[in-house]
Amino acid sequence: MLNRIGIVARVIFRLFILAPDHSAYRNPHPAFFTMPIVKPTCIRDLKFRVNIVDVVSRVAMLKPAGSGRFKGLCPFHNEKTPSFHVDSNKGFYKCFGCGKAGDIFTFIQETEQLSFVEAVETLGKRYGVPVEYEEGSGGPSREERSLRQELFDLHETAAEHFHQVFKGNFDPNDPAKTGEWMRAYWQNVRRFAPELADEFKIGAAAPDGSGLFSRLYKEHHTEEALRKCGLFFVRDNEPLTLHTVRPRFRGRLMIPIRDHQGRVVAFTARATDLTPADDPAHEAKYVNSPETPIFTKGNIIFNLDRARAAVGPDAPFVLVEGQLDALRCWSVGIKTAIAFQGTAITEPQLALLRRYHTQVECLLDSDAAGQKAALRYLPLALKAGLESRFLALASATKLDPDLLFLEHGPAAYDELRQHALSAMAFACRGILPDPAAASAEQKTQATRALFDLILNADSDITRAQFLEEIRAHLHLATSPQALINDFDAYRHRAAQRAASATAAAASETEATESRKPNTENTATGANTPEYHLLLLCLHNEHLGPRIAQRILDTGWIDRAHTAGALLEKILNHFAGDDWPGRDHLDEYGLLETDAEKALAATLLFDPPKTDEPLRAVDQALTALRNRALLKRKQQIELALAAPHEDSNGDNLSLLKELTNITRQLRQPLGL
Ligand code: ZN
Repeated sequence: MLNRIGIVARVIFRLFILAPDHSAYRNPHPAFFTMPIVKPTCIRDLKFRVNIVDVVSRVAMLKPAGSGRFKGLCPFHNEKTPSFHVDSNKGFYKCFGCGKAGDIFTFIQETEQLSFVEAVETLGKRYGVPVEYEEGSGGPSREERSLRQELFDLHETAAEHFHQVFKGNFDPNDPAKTGEWMRAYWQNVRRFAPELADEFKIGAAAPDGSGLFSRLYKEHHTEEALRKCGLFFVRDNEPLTLHTVRPRFRGRLMIPIRDHQGRVVAFTARATDLTPADDPAHEAKYVNSPETPIFTKGNIIFNLDRARAAVGPDAPFVLVEGQLDALRCWSVGIKTAIAFQGTAITEPQLALLRRYHTQVECLLDSDAAGQKAALRYLPLALKAGLESRFLALASATKLDPDLLFLEHGPAAYDELRQHALSAMAFACRGILPDPAAASAEQKTQATRALFDLILNADSDITRAQFLEEIRAHLHLATSPQALINDFDAYRHRAAQRAASATAAAASETEATESRKPNTENTATGANTPEYHLLLLCLHNEHLGPRIAQRILDTGWIDRAHTAGALLEKILNHFAGDDWPGRDHLDEYGLLETDAEKALAATLLFDPPKTDEPLRAVDQALTALRNRALLKRKQQIELALAAPHEDSNGDNLSLLKELTNITRQLRQPLGL
């Protein structure tokens, strides 16, 4: 029992102390090569032909919200109520929670970590729009593609290669008849249908691993990609040749691992009788690809690309331990089965799940490893806001989901669901299996371990429900209110401990933060007169030329923030009779930075809250002028307060200017 508490304690330790660093995941991949320039006509074409709702729907579930707008959970931050809006008419998205905003291109850039040109190429490929490049800027030659994109292509080829070996089409002279052997293994030992192998592109690696390298080499993949794809062992100081390269996977059944968008990013390889004795991982039943620029174990969930389309009311995710379990589920019609990569369960994975559905049924093996996985999963799931239920496989039967469904079909799933345990019932059972026989001390320890778990839940209602469950399961004599009080006291102490542990660091950060003003708003220029004028210009385009005429030459616009810079640019276009229309800002090259794109998207989403645009324009113009005048007034007053002896003439003109300013400040400014 103490051991179980130890596991929970370790899980919690990992959760708080060893929180994974996501910065590497968030950072866009550095561009290795200079990028060619895509023709603006092509960008316009894509924007015209591709519906942003299709693009976003690959990653986030959207629901119609009227007049061409859609709403869903934000793919960029973890949230429980949808604040992510997509406007299919304008081609923009905007999150009112985290502020992310943009168009189809920025969306692909951010979610797939691609450069702008790569995002254009990806969309072009996906929607069958040919991408054209400016002359002389160089098309997408091998050297100019990013490593990530190349690794995706390379893995697609590798998956195809392994599948062809499996099908026996690859090498008719293969002495080991790898394909024939693997197909027999697949059907007779694993007892899967041949069609399932085709559907998931199951493959085979030849016992000597031959064929793959020469195929990739022939396809002119770059040396960098071949070294970093994880499919080969090669020493850093050795040249890359057929003789120096050793395939990582030999004589194994190959299962392609896809990311949530369906791209092959890695492989899981199962050992078979064909696995040679000199395989460095010969003893390992399963070998995974190592981490590469496109594969981070903690970010991938097996079969999520398919399962996310199948979840819905009464169709929760079904979490199983291994890929073959997930494939078995799929084959008997449980299309929502998913599996983590090995033992890794991370916050990013659960946040990814949360985007598509909040309910998860855990169908983990009844052995110690399965129970450990469940206890690792639970605190993270509570924290991510997932509702979990546990389907317990009777330990006496020694069945894993694979065997269970193979022998009893989908009916076994319905049977399990009827006896599902809630998260707390499961945790109580894991931590204190026999409460009736437990001592008071054991119950106290178990309660503390469960308190630690509940700390992860984020609402008082959920916590109160959990506490009530604990009280019942552990047969506690305490009253409900007394248990809540105990928990609150425990939470208070935990918070104090956490606070004192990080006090030094926090006060340091706070000191730094307080020295600088809210930088983000300052940088964007939100709520400045420039911001309001931009908003008004974009939603009342006919007023643009008049606003331009009124303020362009005054020097009042503050170009230090994004709103100011963008306003001046837009007014210049109005003044030059060169206005492309608000829906064409991007392809016209008007939006030059990501900040400008985000701001434009925000503005296009937020119609001004006024029925009298003219009056709002006058107010904004007045505010803009007054800000400039007040600044000048302050300068003059300072100069007058510290007069030099021979500055009487200057003083006189300054006084005149001051009077003038004071008079102007009393007048409203209009168009
Ligand atoms: Zn967001």
